[in-house]
Amino acid sequence: MADDENAQQRTITTDACVVGGGPAGLMTGVLLARAGVDVTVIEKHDDFLRDFRGDTIHPSTLEVLHELGWVDEFLSLPHTRMDSVEVAFGNDRVTVADFSHLPVRHRFIAFVPQWDFLAFLLEKGKLYPHFTFLPEATALKLITQGHRVRGILGHRRGQSLRVLSRLVIGADGRRGFTKRGSGLPGHDIGAPIDVLWFRLPRSEGERLPLFTGGQGSLISINRGEYWQLAYAIPPGTGDVIRADGPTALQRRVAHLQPGFRNRLLGLDDWGKVQELKVSVDRLRKWHRPGLLCIGDAAHAMSPAGGVGINLAIQDAVATANLLAPVLRTRTPHEGELDAVQRRRSLPTRITQAFQTRILSGLYASSVAKRGAATLPLPLRLLRRIPRLRHLTGRLIGLGVRPEHPRTPPI
Ligand SMILES: Cc1cc2nc3c(=O)[nH]c(=O)nc-3n(C[C@H](O)[C@H](O)[C@H](O)COP(=O)(O)OP(=O)(O)OC[C@H]3O[C@@H](n4cnc5c(N)ncnc54)[C@H](O)[C@@H]3O)c2cc1C
Repeated sequence: MADDENAQQRTITTDACVVGGGPAGLMTGVLLARAGVDVTVIEKHDDFLRDFRGDTIHPSTLEVLHELGWVDEFLSLPHTRMDSVEVAFGNDRVTVADFSHLPVRHRFIAFVPQWDFLAFLLEKGKLYPHFTFLPEATALKLITQGHRVRGILGHRRGQSLRVLSRLVIGADGRRGFTKRGSGLPGHDIGAPIDVLWFRLPRSEGERLPLFTGGQGSLISINRGEYWQLAYAIPPGTGDVIRADGPTALQRRVAHLQPGFRNRLLGLDDWGKVQELKVSVDRLRKWHRPGLLCIGDAAHAMSPAGGVGINLAIQDAVATANLLAPVLRTRTPHEGELDAVQRRRSLPTRITQAFQTRILSGLYASSVAKRGAATLPLPLRLLRRIPRLRHLTGRLIGLGVRPEHPRTPPI
């Protein structure tokens, strides 16, 4: 990496500039640096402590960590394990995904706060001399020459920042500037839910199903001392729900989870509730000369199934496998960038279809429901047919076309 700095501007010249230090960007940065590619990852925040990030590390990601020789260290971090996904619906409980038959070593979802996962990846990156991570650095604009992207312009700590690179990897998430500013054509699939995101205290040893449906639906993530909760609402209805006041929300949630009734009294202010707009979309083309988008920047995922982080990691592994050998010596041509899209496009499409048609069907019906909760057809089938639970376990836990890191460390 060449680094040229004065009081007003810093210019970095590197092989690959990764925009975004989320799961996709950090994993790509680490794997490229591990393979000897000079890489700079820029992240606009100064830490990873964002509450709205998901916490689910699936068997596919654990397998990647195993293949990299990091899994034991990773699993020594505080975490909880889930070897099947259970859904509560009214008075019924149904196992909707069973990981016990997966052909991998770790047949469970590890719940690890995402900031711990990202900090873990960052520590791995720091082991490699070719890895540079710049927090508090915001990319604002692509530097172009003709149609070719040559780098990014942005700022960091009051200084303007210019990163020139053979390739810009857009890993800046579903609302990132690389997909908006790149002119790449997209396709909005639409999401059947938005989410109200809040936390409640958790008592020692308390266990709850991940998903509770009925009149509305609630995802409950165990974060030790507290529950991170996501209450699904029909898209665009946040204002209507706010107009009803916090007590209406308290009532709705207590109806789903009566054990929360007393704790919900503390949820007395909308400042304690964050509304998250869920989007599901994908780019028709993930690249143009000098730029490749991956992770949510290429295909925004909804929280359904908790698969977004893991799909982002799979994209990162494929990107490093296909592009590390090229990036060490030259600029990849478009056919080589397209190879990443060709490899990851089918898994993305299948996973998004699974999210929007099957999983979100459960959310949508339970969100809209006003009468007594009756078990939706997919849940009735899953209860009856164990093989179906193994199939959903495979789709959620491993996904389609699992990736394996192929680039040897230098
Ligand atoms: C409400 C909700 C809950 C979810 N829950 C789960 C879950 O439990 N499990 C799961 O697997 N998935 C979940 N998802 C999906 C998951 O969050 C995403 O699929 C996943 O985070 C994508 O990873 P990524 O690295 O591509 O993008 P992101 O995680 O969005 O990371 C992008 C990074 O880029 C940075 N950035 C953005 N713009 C710039 C810029 N201009 N310059 C520099 N940096 C920039 C951001 O700060 C961020 O750190 C959820 C999604 C939603 C909406």
